Amino acid sequence: MKRKIVKIDEELCTGCGKCVAPCAEGAITIVNGKAKVIREELCDGAGYCIGVCPTGALTIEEREAAPFDEKAVAEHKASAKPVDASQIYCFSCGNSDQEAPLLPVRLKGEALWVCTRCLPRLIHG
Ligand code: SF4
Repeated sequence: MKRKIVKIDEELCTGCGKCVAPCAEGAITIVNGKAKVIREELCDGAGYCIGVCPTGALTIEEREAAPFDEKAVAEHKASAKPVDASQIYCFSCGNSDQEAPLLPVRLKGEALWVCTRCLPRLIHG
């Protein structure tokens, strides 16, 4: 089956791990210092990871891949360790995801997080 799925350029990937937490399905992990899609069926191709990558290593490609499987995602999330989100905070106010939902943004070439309280100010000035 041909579908959209995340592609990781290992030459550009520094293994910083910023793409791990935005993936709601837990499809990305760091293996030997590089980001990897651990199982194709866990990646829905939504691309929430792309905006946080500081090096442009992540893109979406359309290719032959195992179909996205919500049941496999649920089983994977139930057995996976929680992601350490302690390094993720709003660049504007410092909120963590405990205070407000955080979204990835790119600003002046930098990959950042912004909370939903600061987002309207960012959009409307
Ligand atoms: S955010 Fe980009 S550079 Fe960092 S681990 Fe993920 S793919 Fe690699």
